[in-house]
Amino acid sequence: PSPLTEHGPAKIVAMCNQKGGVGKTTSTINLGAALAEYGRRVLLVDFDPQGALSVGLGVNPMELDLTVYNLLMERGLTADEVLLKTAVPGMDLLPSNIDLSAAEVQLVSEVARESALARALKPLLPDYDYVIIDCQPSLGLLTVNALTAAHSVIVPLECEFFALRGVALLTETIEKVCERLNPDLRLDGILATMYDSRTVHSREVLARVVEAFGEHVFHTVIGRTVRFPETTVAGEPITTYASNSVGAAAYRQLAREVLARCPVE
Ligand code: ADP
Ligand code: MG
Repeated sequence: PSPLTEHGPAKIVAMCNQKGGVGKTTSTINLGAALAEYGRRVLLVDFDPQGALSVGLGVNPMELDLTVYNLLMERGLTADEVLLKTAVPGMDLLPSNIDLSAAEVQLVSEVARESALARALKPLLPDYDYVIIDCQPSLGLLTVNALTAAHSVIVPLECEFFALRGVALLTETIEKVCERLNPDLRLDGILATMYDSRTVHSREVLARVVEAFGEHVFHTVIGRTVRFPETTVAGEPITTYASNSVGAAAYRQLAREVLARCPVE
């Protein structure tokens, strides 16, 4: 990918699947880090009250005074008061912790409750090329906020038997948000994760996913490797933890696909 002479306005990508454990957080960290390696300015948004994205970048969520929750709920607070730099040059983090679970309830009574995150991110867009939102495993109001803010959705799907279960509900939600709240939203891709080429089963699931989603499926497939759980413990992306690994190469390939599918104008 060619280097950039100027940055932004950022494309917002929601990493979304209401199923847990499919690779949303892992993909957010490593796609972000790979895009940053290619010279893109990246902001990662932890939008799961579990704070796994923050933990995966070496931040202890319990020790945070200000999180994305405060940015959503408090007028007058600016993003620089909440933003954290990560160890990856060019990649910043809006961290989160359990406080965010209150937002789901508190937002219900707000005006334009679905666009709180979009409003909070707007002033940041000129400073970045990509904003990636790590969604929580539900289709509740927080996830609808992420979809309302986003230009693009990436859906990680684990190459396991029940991978496609629930995906229809997800695509319906995306369509509804697109019709009612955010006509710019596009499903840019289905990302097959935890693929094990040694099993017939993984290959069959991948074939079914391609059959169901055709062109929407990224060519990049993320293999299953213990290297990813290791990176969580290390608190850094695989691109720095094991720069020459197959996993790092896969996320770099995904980054190139995202640059092509969802370019920053
Ligand atoms: P989600 O955010 O969708 O809940 P995570 O990214 O947290 O999913 O992944 C769930 C668990 O699976 C984590 O322990 C993570 O380290 C592990 N994991 C993620 N991707 C892979 C992979 N490609 N191979 C093996 N383990 C993985
Ligand atoms: Mg997660």
